[in-house]
Amino acid sequence: MSETRRPLIAGNWKMNGLADESLRQMQELVSRARKFDNPGCDILICPPTTLLRELARVAVDSPVRVGGQDCHANASGAHTGDIAAEMLKDSGARYCIVGHSERRTDHGEDNTTVKAKAEAAHRAGLIAIVCVGETLAEREGDKTLDVISDQVTNSLPKGATSSNTVVAYEPVWAIGTGKTPTPLDVKAVHAHIREELGKLMNDAAKVRVLYGGSVKGSNAAELMAVENVDGALVGGASLTAEDFWPIVKTGI
Ligand code: PEP
Repeated sequence: MSETRRPLIAGNWKMNGLADESLRQMQELVSRARKFDNPGCDILICPPTTLLRELARVAVDSPVRVGGQDCHANASGAHTGDIAAEMLKDSGARYCIVGHSERRTDHGEDNTTVKAKAEAAHRAGLIAIVCVGETLAEREGDKTLDVISDQVTNSLPKGATSSNTVVAYEPVWAIGTGKTPTPLDVKAVHAHIREELGKLMNDAAKVRVLYGGSVKGSNAAELMAVENVDGALVGGASLTAEDFWPIVKTGI
């Protein structure tokens, strides 16, 4: 991890969590984090929207932040079932994930949609975590770097800076599968992302680029040690404080 970029260790709870157990897990995470006056990293939980306000309340005045998992491009309107970035902000969110591969696949979101959502997050004053990553077929077809170039170039809005944007590299084939790329593969893609960011923004060197895909306590330190890896986006292993904490510790 870099000395100039503050790591971000983020948990994506996806569609998991009812109130009682989720509150217990958040309380446990917050109480562990409170033992550090100023942990050396930012800690984030992106719960289901139903839990956002309550978890934000548990985390108040602690180093733990909460965020949304997705937002609509518009601030309000006739969009049944959707959630605006402004609503997430109003519920206590500081960040919003956009373009997660499950959104790209399950909801047919393309780069143009993701870019509009990142723009919406910025408009609401949220930090957008923009996800990119290749499928297995793309990796096997030697297309990884081309896919990443396309996603980075076309998913990031004009006003993206290191203060309002984080990029998460999540190889689709590594999400929830227990498989991870080698540190050398991660290094190559993260270097490529930083190079692409350099073509888009002036402060590319300061943008945090996270790795995501089957990160767990046992592999986090090795992945976080890779050049240009500035933290992690964690799915399954973020659901309990016990599993998430060893990953957070690699950033502290
Ligand atoms: C994710 O979906 O963002 C993710 C990285 O999931 P997992 O850690 O479970 O692979």
